[in-house]
Amino acid sequence: MGSMLTDAPPRKGHVANFLESDQIKTLDLPQDGSLLTITKSIESAMKAGTTADVRRACAEFLDAASEFYKVSACGIRVLAARPLRVRENWSTELFGDYTPETMVIRVWMKTAVMKEITSFGTFLSTLCHEFCHHLDYQKFGFHDSWHTRGFYERAAALYHHARGTPPKKLVWVPTSGERWRIDWPRTNRSA
Ligand SMILES: [Zn+2]
Repeated sequence: MGSMLTDAPPRKGHVANFLESDQIKTLDLPQDGSLLTITKSIESAMKAGTTADVRRACAEFLDAASEFYKVSACGIRVLAARPLRVRENWSTELFGDYTPETMVIRVWMKTAVMKEITSFGTFLSTLCHEFCHHLDYQKFGFHDSWHTRGFYERAAALYHHARGTPPKKLVWVPTSGERWRIDWPRTNRSA
């Protein structure tokens, strides 16, 4: 899951949005197993299919999720490798990104440095993470989509639901610059 570090609160602007994002720690989840079924088709497409198969399965996942959350559908591009230019301020997005202006998610199947195939778990986690950016703008109406504790909690809830794995209680510790990071040893013990 990589390092999960929150963004610092904005100095000015939409501070109230930031606090709200930080505090919303749950996400409604579909009660049927529809996302789980689609997730399995993403997994098999990654194993045996083409990039187009993976893209199709991801699009199906995002369409179903968008319908459930009653938000506009978002676009999806599945790339073989990470593009050279990634938005500077979101340089922590190692496996995907989201552009609010176009509502397009991009995910890539190989890491930039090692050129290794992204694992299914990381890939799905990235897809859920980027979709939660979409929800921040389209469902919650935030003016920006920060990586708050609440954001990571929502993304984790969606990921565990979609994968059919039990959610973990995320244990946060404060770090410099009014930011928080996850204490993974304690988080993993809580599972
Ligand atoms: Zn992000």
